[in-house]
Amino acid sequence: MNNTETVYTIDTVIEKIMEENKQYDLSKIVSAYECAAKAHASQLRSSGEPYITHPLAVSYILLDLGMDTDTICAGMLHDVVEDTDTTLEEIKKRFGQDVAMLVDGVTKLGKIPLYTKEEQQAENVRKILLAMSQDIRVIIIKLADRLHNMRTLQFRPADKQRATALETMNIYAPIAHRLGIRAIQDEIEDLSFRYLDPFAYSEIEQTLKIRSDERYAFIRSIEDQIRARFKELGAAEPQLSGRVKSVYGIYRKAFVNGKSMDEIYDIYAVRIVVDTVVNCYNALGIIHDMYNPLPNRFKDYIATPKANMYQSLHTTVIGSEGIPFEVQIRTVDMNYTAEYGIAAHWKYKEGIKKDKLENRLAWIRKIIEAQQESDDAEEIVRTIKSDLSPEDTFAFTPKGDIITLPAGATIIDFAYAIHSEVGNKMKGAKVDGKLVSLDYKIQTGEIVEILTSNDPNHGPNRAWLDIALTNEARSKIRSWFKKERREENIETGKAKLAHEFTRNSINVPEEDLADFLADDMKRHNCATLDDYYAAVGYGGIILDKILPRLKDLYTKRYGPAKPTSLPFIPKRSNTGIVVGGESNIEVKMAKCCDPLPGEDIIGFITKGHGVSVHRRDCRNYIEAMQKGEDTDRWVDVVWAESVTRNDDPIFKATIDIVAYGSLTLIADIATVTADMRVPVTNISTRVLKNGNTNILLTCSIAGAEQLRNLIVKLRKLTDVISADRIAK
Ligand code: MN
Repeated sequence: MNNTETVYTIDTVIEKIMEENKQYDLSKIVSAYECAAKAHASQLRSSGEPYITHPLAVSYILLDLGMDTDTICAGMLHDVVEDTDTTLEEIKKRFGQDVAMLVDGVTKLGKIPLYTKEEQQAENVRKILLAMSQDIRVIIIKLADRLHNMRTLQFRPADKQRATALETMNIYAPIAHRLGIRAIQDEIEDLSFRYLDPFAYSEIEQTLKIRSDERYAFIRSIEDQIRARFKELGAAEPQLSGRVKSVYGIYRKAFVNGKSMDEIYDIYAVRIVVDTVVNCYNALGIIHDMYNPLPNRFKDYIATPKANMYQSLHTTVIGSEGIPFEVQIRTVDMNYTAEYGIAAHWKYKEGIKKDKLENRLAWIRKIIEAQQESDDAEEIVRTIKSDLSPEDTFAFTPKGDIITLPAGATIIDFAYAIHSEVGNKMKGAKVDGKLVSLDYKIQTGEIVEILTSNDPNHGPNRAWLDIALTNEARSKIRSWFKKERREENIETGKAKLAHEFTRNSINVPEEDLADFLADDMKRHNCATLDDYYAAVGYGGIILDKILPRLKDLYTKRYGPAKPTSLPFIPKRSNTGIVVGGESNIEVKMAKCCDPLPGEDIIGFITKGHGVSVHRRDCRNYIEAMQKGEDTDRWVDVVWAESVTRNDDPIFKATIDIVAYGSLTLIADIATVTADMRVPVTNISTRVLKNGNTNILLTCSIAGAEQLRNLIVKLRKLTDVISADRIAK
């Protein structure tokens, strides 16, 4: 489809029609062409070519998408009502009601200015959605029109290029994405990106050009290996296609993950198309047997399709040359849908069944309905935009610059995305004019203002490392601590190390410490003990990673570690908790993390209210350790094996459930809790913007294991998308 040079004539279009294995009314299409050619006869494109080349190109793209005769005719005629004397009435008389309706729809869409004030923008996007909901073919024609205009954008004046590219990136690419029309989405994103960030574009393009022969050969060799292996195992020969990712695809990966091009795993992608779903999983087994899979890179979009109905298995593996590549595995049907999305309904008879098509259009209607209930223009814009691109968040600086972040990004990510200085000097933030906390999750469409400090000593906080989502922000925070806070890092590092040593019963005499750590210091390029402490302090050395080695070393030198703080564990306790070996100390469960029996816990000696018990992974505990605050007030505690007191302490846990909103959902959840005899203490539900239901379920829980079982059972419910414990 990617052909920017071709000049289209009616002959190229007729040739294409002959190639397609479908019934077309050729004479109707030719007469639509003649009508358009006559109407546009005196007009030229900015490129100097006859205007008719544009409707011809649009029709060609529509043919490629497999659209029907009426859509092709409307593609030929899409600009005549707007730009010539031909009227809608004439079109209706000659080509029928359907073609006239499609042309009218496209003409109206073209009149909607997309970049005006927010409130108007909401209204305009609403119009687009309305047009889509009446006949989805209207927006498909509009996308084809936009694709050809983007391909020929070099002939337009520079300011028009930018505005068109921005509009394409912000409105049309997300719509193509939502409709799953990959073939158009990829190309218009790449083309827009070329105009929006020409430097980044050419940098990536150049990098890809270098050694492109080698890249090509690498992909071919992987394909050959896979084909040979399938044959060897007697599996049916799969369809294979390998490629290098699109320029914008690479940019987005690099940007979202804060990585350089060398660090992006899936510059290469190999697609394997097989006949059945079962064979998808079989193929995955073969691939994982041939190559080493990278951890945490497997995604099952067959079991959990994306919002645009995309289905596939994704995994990233390492080839024999040590080069990682992504493998996508799917069936023939899934492949149609992946490439053509909603257009697969026309292109392939079996591509999308009628009811699935209806399903896909349902989201448009939902948005429109939701809007009619709300008068809040900003809210409407936000809903539409976030629904259109569920994977990224777009927010604005007060000056109107767009900052793109992964979904779930916080104020801290936003500040560092602007500039490291802005992040380092941040003391607060406003979203849409209101003060928010730094862990606030930014939503698409919001205007974020970062408030900075003039104090030259002002800097980030270590707790930010846990809040920030992007690697970019985290690495900038870490490098600040590395550079600016040596004294503080040394103190923090010392305290952290001392704490972990106590926890692991490692008791090295002070004078032996430098010798004991000598190997590890060398390993981390630390010349002195202070360097080492500093590295632990800013997070350059991760204690969890080095402790097993230090424990071994300790055992070798000093014999097995002897517990110092827990001489024995009484089996019974009044409270259910044993504090430092003592069974009857007053305790209470911390509200911030609701620890459950069976979970790893730690106690904090409060001033006058006994010991409050936290989970070891509680943010408050981790933060206190990182800041080195009150380290001596944290004590080891364990769960007793049994509780002597009559009134058993009641533990509770809250589970955050996201599910498709079905009528039986609550009943299904209630059945699970009743079966497990888990008392429900609170349940609240709300409908999310995308139509899914969010449920907060609070239960009385006996222990960690019961909670795990409950969550497993909830996740198995048909309509449940996710179920996770949250700290309340
Ligand atoms: Mn046009």
